[in-house]
Amino acid sequence: MYKSIIIGTGPAGLTAAIYLARANMSPLVIEGPQPGGQLTTTTEVENFPGFPDGIMGPELMDNMRKQAERFGAEFRTGWVENVDLSERPFKLTVDGMGQLVTETLILSTGASAKYLGIPGEEENVGMGVSTCATCDGFFFRGKEIVVVGGGDSALEEANFLSRFGTKVTLVHRRSELRASKIMQERTRQNPKVEWALDRTPLEVVKGVNGLQGLKVRNNATGETEMIEASGVFVAIGHHPNTGFLNGQVTTDENGYIVVTPGTSETNIPGVFACGDVQDTRYRQAITAAGSGCAAAMDCERFIESLEFAEAAAEKAEAVL
Ligand code: NAP
Repeated sequence: MYKSIIIGTGPAGLTAAIYLARANMSPLVIEGPQPGGQLTTTTEVENFPGFPDGIMGPELMDNMRKQAERFGAEFRTGWVENVDLSERPFKLTVDGMGQLVTETLILSTGASAKYLGIPGEEENVGMGVSTCATCDGFFFRGKEIVVVGGGDSALEEANFLSRFGTKVTLVHRRSELRASKIMQERTRQNPKVEWALDRTPLEVVKGVNGLQGLKVRNNATGETEMIEASGVFVAIGHHPNTGFLNGQVTTDENGYIVVTPGTSETNIPGVFACGDVQDTRYRQAITAAGSGCAAAMDCERFIESLEFAEAAAEKAEAVL
C-alpha cells in the first residue's frame, strides 16, 4: 500500500515527487513511454527561471528526476492500463507490475501530439512524417521540410528544423498565426523559412524514395497545390492523456481534467491533477511545475487529515 502514487514524469509529476518525497511521503512515480514528458522532445528551454543561459529540455528533466530520487521518490516504468477509483484505497492495474494500491493519486499524465488525420499521414509516421523535430530533424539534413501549424510549437520547430533543411515551409490553415509575437518576429527573420498561410493540408504524398510532399488547398483560390518536402512535421497541439481513467474523473469536453479552481482537487477526494492534463490555458513547463507543487501540498494535507482522523478514531475506541 502506497501513501501516494504519481502517474507521469513531466515537470508537474516530477515537482510533485520532489515535494512529496521531501515531506517523507515516499511516493511511487510511474513513468510511461515518454519519461520526462514533452520537454524531452524540445531543444533549448529559455524561459524556465533560474537558467539565464537556457537549458536543454532533456537535461532539465533529468535534473528534476535526480532531485526527486535524492529525497527518496521511487521510480518504476509501466503503462497504467486502468484505475479503480470507486473507493479508497485506489487500485491501479499497471502493465508489468500487476495491481498497485494507494491512498492518494496524483495525475500528471500530460498531453500527446495531435495528428491531422489526412490520407498518407498515419502510414508515413516514422518515414517522413513526424511530431518531434528534436527527435527526427537530423534525418532531413540538406532536404526540404514542411511544418504544419500556426502556434508557438510550429514556429519553434520551423526555426529548429531550419538548421538541417535547405528550406522549411510553414503551412497554416489560416492567414493569421496563433503564435506569440516574439516567436513570429524571430521566424520572419529566418531566411530559410517560407510561409504557406491560408493553406489546408489535404494529403501526405509518398514519392519514389520517401515523401514527395504535402498536398494543400489554397483557401484563397480554392486550388490544390503541392509543397515538395522529404519531411512533414505536424505541430498542431496536443490532447490530454486521460483515456485510462474511463470517465471516473470529471473532464471537460476536450478530455482535460477539471479541478476545483485554485486547487489540484478533482471530483474524487484523494485524487489530484497537475500539469498539462488539467491545463487548457498556460501549458508551460513552469506552470506545470508550479501545479505539481500545489498537487503535492494538497495531497500531503489530505494524507495528514486521514492520519488525524484515524488517530482520533483509535483514541475514541481506547476510551470506550
Ligand atoms: P496551439 O497554440 O494550440 O496551436 C496549434 C496550431 O495548430 C494552431 O495554429 C491551429 O490552428 C493548428 N491546428 C490545430 N488543429 C489543426 C488541424 N486539424 N489542421 C491544421 N491546423 C491545425 O498549440 P502549440 O503550438 O502546441 O502550443 C501550445 C501551448 O504551448 C501554447 O500555450 C504555446 O504558447 C505554448 N508553447 C510555448 C512555447 C515557448 O514559449 N517557447 C513553445 C511551444 C509551445 P488555428 O490557429 O487555426 O486554430
